[in-house]
Order: sequence, then structure tokens, then C-alpha cells
Amino acid sequence: METKTHIAIVTVPVYSHLRSILEFAKKLINLDKNIHVTCINPIFGSPFNNVKSLFETLPSTINYIFLPSINLEDLPKDIHPALKVQATIYRSIPIIYDALNTLHSSSKLVAIVADGLITEALPLAKKLNILAYSYFPSTTMLLSLCLYSSKLDKKICSEYKELLEPLEIPGCIPINGSDLPDPMQDRSGEAYKVFLEANDRFYLADGIMINSFLELEEITIKALQQKEGEGIPSIYPIGPFIQNNVSCDNKGISDSEYFRWLDKHEEKSILYVSFGSGGTLCNDQIIELAYGLELSGQNFLWVLRPPNKFGVIDDIGSDENEEDVFQFLPNGFLERTKGKGFVVPYWAPQIEILGHSSIGGFLSHCGWNSTLESVVNGIPLIAWPLFAEQKMNAALVTDGLKVAIRPKLNEKGIVERREIDKVVNNLMVGEEGKEIRQRMEKLKGGAIDALKENGSSTRTLTQLALKWKSLGVTLEN
Ligand code: UDP
Repeated sequence: METKTHIAIVTVPVYSHLRSILEFAKKLINLDKNIHVTCINPIFGSPFNNVKSLFETLPSTINYIFLPSINLEDLPKDIHPALKVQATIYRSIPIIYDALNTLHSSSKLVAIVADGLITEALPLAKKLNILAYSYFPSTTMLLSLCLYSSKLDKKICSEYKELLEPLEIPGCIPINGSDLPDPMQDRSGEAYKVFLEANDRFYLADGIMINSFLELEEITIKALQQKEGEGIPSIYPIGPFIQNNVSCDNKGISDSEYFRWLDKHEEKSILYVSFGSGGTLCNDQIIELAYGLELSGQNFLWVLRPPNKFGVIDDIGSDENEEDVFQFLPNGFLERTKGKGFVVPYWAPQIEILGHSSIGGFLSHCGWNSTLESVVNGIPLIAWPLFAEQKMNAALVTDGLKVAIRPKLNEKGIVERREIDKVVNNLMVGEEGKEIRQRMEKLKGGAIDALKENGSSTRTLTQLALKWKSLGVTLEN
């Protein structure tokens, strides 16, 4: 007799979230061949090539369903990409429920695991009498803030960004109000209301899995775990989940061209510069960054995108014509930095690049996947956050873990070229960089240990899987 354990995963249409939760799905089925996973994916429009390639490379034992595309034509054409995602999630709830209900009727579900951005799926699981879990693809620090946000809302009257003292979040380093996630920057806004409501739904979860690990955020993880009896759901640190072997189309530059260039350089001598799957800078900042890199005299590999008013491009990976990005660089920059610099339009195989021995630093927007990819490769960071919860991640890696340097902004919010020159040299060849590198190497060791057969994350996920298996359906052979 065999026990079949069927888990449904509910995703959100955000590239980095998909990448993370699909790694979790792979890990889960690798733990036990009797665990079956079906991914339910709400979408708007048809998925771009980079998203398709995430699904096409899944093992055949993971089933997936793309739900009918949500129509967003009634929304203004030019809205922020985050609002499109929010609207898609909101409008998909009835069809997610139908999909879950159908799956559950045909092949009994043991648990539903929903991405942390779609807490609306948790009450659906309860309605179907199925265990409800959240997969949180960010830091435990952010999770602690989410779980604490309603209390904070009652405790503090003013705007958080105007507070003179850093805020205390349970188990976390003190954090400036201006480093809190975007929805908390305007308490009168709709986004803040939606954020608080979403956070309250985390309390419905039977457990929350985090893409973090004990050695990385021990104090915060333990602080939350101690409160499990007081209404806080069980917390399962099971990361770091890093994707391997998928790279998006590199727009005509073959992987081998990067690697030929990387191979030419000494160990740890190149700074990799990239702002995540969609992040981009304004034109003035692109120019300052170019001059700063040039002034620093250090080698760099820079993934460059055109400026845009939201600071994020949401159609990377589509078949749309792309702009010539080089026009945004200062005159003569490419010629002057030839040999020292490699500028790549739009997209690069980041994981493979970070794993190359010539990379010695990462100027990153501190998206959580990028941060973990740096950690598992032992690469020190320059923390250059742009949006979402990235400023909080930057505070964690700079002030908490001390594995990053954070450049200062001028009064217009721009990092000037001399500041860039300074931080790049401090990180790549300075004393501060040496100490940071040592601490990052230690974290890398912690990440490797956590994922070993008897490591903390593997043990945590195995225990959870055992619990789910005990609730599976027994099949007659
Ligand atoms: N990424 C990549 N190539 C790029 C830019 C990004 O492979 O040129 C990947 C990167 O490795 C990471 C993900 O896209 O896995 C970005 O996720 P992250 O959480 O860092 O940032 P977000 O995209 O959410 O801003």
C-alpha cells in the first residue's frame, strides 16, 4: 500500500516569486516520490518567455495549471506594475477557489501552500477544510514586521518615515521608518490598507515557510517560534532556495561570451552590477553610476536597462522590441572602460555569473533572491535598494549581518559618482571589504550547512513533509 500526498501551490505572477516557490516545489518532490504537487498560476496576458522557461524546466512530476488570463483592460494603461499584480490576485480568487475545489474533489489535497503575496488563498483552504500554508519568499525580518504591522498601526500615530527614532520590530534590528516597505511609506494610501489586511490573513495559516535559514536570521526566527503558542503560526525556515540551470535569452550575447570575458580576469576582481528581474534607474542615476564605476578603476559587469518612471520594467522576457540601452550612458563611456567593463543589455545569467571565481562583489538592489544568491556564493554586497521591501533587506545585510556597504544618497535621492567610487573601492580592495568578505564566507558556510542532509533547513522541511504524508491518502496497490 502506498500513501499519496497531494499539495497545491498557489503562485503569483511575479518572476522572482515564481522562481523561488518553484524551487520549493522541486525540493519537496525530491524529498519523497509520493508527494505530488500541482501549481495553480493566476496570470494576466500570456506568460513571457522567461516565465515559460521556468515552467518548461520543471520535472514532469510537478503539474501546473495556468488559470484563464485576467482582463485588466479597464485599468488605466499606465499604472504601476505592482498594481497590475494586485488586481490580478484580487480578481483571480474565485477561479483559484474553483481550481482548488476541482483538484480536491478528484484527488484529495492535504495542504495548500500559497505565495506570501496571496494571503487571500489561505481562507480558501480553510473553506475547503484543507491545511493552509504560506511560502514567504523574503526575510524573516519582513515576516516579523508583517505579523506585527497591525499592532504597530495602533501603537504609532504619525507617518513611520517621519519618526526620529528607529522602530523596534520583535526579534529584529532597529529599523528607520524610511526603510520600511513601500506600502508603509504613506499611511493614508490604499496600499497601506491592503498591506495591513493581507498581513492579518497570515494568522489563518497553519504554518509559514520562509526562504531563509537559521544561521542567517537566528534571533528573529527564534523570537517568532517562541510566540507560536500565542497565535503566531508555526515558522519553518527552509531556505536558501536558489534556482539553478535556467537562464533567460541573453539577447544575442551567448553565455560563452560572458564567460570568456570573466575567465580573462583574476579571482574576485569584478564587481557585478544588477537590479533584479525588472529594476532600473533614472537617467541621471545611470550617468552617475557610469562615472562612478569609471572613476573607481575596478572591473565591472553591469546589466543595464533603460530608465522608466516607475523604476521597474515589467515586460522583460517578452518578445517586444527592446530599446538601445547604450544611448543612456555618458559619451565615450564604453570606449574608455573597454577591457575593464562589460555592459549587458537587460538580462544576464546571474546565478552562473555569481558562481564565477572572478566575481568579487555585487552591487545589488537587495531583492531577496539576489541577496541569497550572493550569500551562497560568498560575494560581498553593495546595498542599493530601489523599491518594495528592498530597503529593509539592505538594512539587514548592512547593519544586521554586516556583509554589505550601503552608499549614501544626496538630497535629490541620487548616489553621486564620488560616493560610488568610494564604496566600490572599499568593497573590492579596502580593509572594510576584507572584513565583509570574511563574514560573507561564514554565511556561505552556514547556507551550505543548512541544506546538507542533516542541515537545519533540510530537517525542518523533512519534518513538515512527514506531517503532510501522515495525512495523505492510502492507495491500494
Ligand atoms: N535575474 C537574472 N538575471 C538578470 C536579473 C535577474 O537571472 O539579469 C534573476 C536573479 O538571479 C534573481 C531574480 O532574477 O533570481 C531576481 O529576484 P530578486 O528577488 O533579487 O529581485 P526582484 O526581481 O524581485 O526585484
